[in-house]
Amino acid sequence: MRIPCPYCGPRDVAEFNYLGDAAPAPIASGDDAVDQAALFVHIYLRDNPAGPHQGYWYHGNGCRSWLVVTRDTISHDISEVRLADSRGRA
Ligand SMILES: [Zn+2]
Repeated sequence: MRIPCPYCGPRDVAEFNYLGDAAPAPIASGDDAVDQAALFVHIYLRDNPAGPHQGYWYHGNGCRSWLVVTRDTISHDISEVRLADSRGRA
C-alpha cells in the first residue's frame, strides 16, 4: 500500500505508523461518570468498520507530519489524505 503524503508524494506504508482512529474524542459533559464511560468506549471499544475509515498516520520516516487518511478497509483504496490540524481533530 502506498500513502500519498501531501509533502513527500506517494510513499510506501512502511514509512508510516498508524496511530488510531481519527474519530473525535468525546466532549466533556460535566458528569464525571458519563465522561469516564464515554472515554472508556472511545479508547477500548473501537469499531472495526468495513468500508471507509479515517485514521491518524504519522510519516515518521519522511516529513514527520501527522496525517488523516481516509481508507477503505476492504479494498485499501485511499480516497483522501490531509494534514491533521494542530488541535488533533480529524
Ligand atoms: Zn511526508
